[in-house]
Amino acid sequence: MDRQDCIFCKIARGDMPASIVYQDAEVVVFKDIHPSAPIHYLIIPRIHLDSAAEAEEQHAPLLGKLIVTAAKIAHAEGFATFDYRLVTNIGRDGGQSVFHLHWHLMAGRRMTWPSG
Ligand code: 5GP
Ligand code: ZN
Repeated sequence: MDRQDCIFCKIARGDMPASIVYQDAEVVVFKDIHPSAPIHYLIIPRIHLDSAAEAEEQHAPLLGKLIVTAAKIAHAEGFATFDYRLVTNIGRDGGQSVFHLHWHLMAGRRMTWPSG
């Protein structure tokens, strides 16, 4: 279910370099190429979904796993007090620029809200 022309599918396949933080059979975590926080990782499913708006009942365990993976990484890396931001942008007006579902895991600075 991967897509030949999708950069995040390429990263998941190992066809494009990325600084991988964690991976297993379902999930890949890698460093954002243009970090906007001291820690800025992208958490993706190996299967291609354009965004969280494509989520269906069958994806529920996988989508839950993405958030559990973020929590495990936060604990393993000991982010100060485990404060971090986990966001996913949906569609162009939602701020999305890469159309393979991903969560941004950001930490290491005081976040502001609303994000703009
Ligand atoms: P979005 O704007 O879709 O929510 O987030 C896409 C993110 O992917 C951006 O933060 C951008 O810096 C990151 N990104 C885009 N292309 C690449 C790439 O080739 N490698 C990595 N590691 N990150 C990328
Ligand atoms: Zn993809």
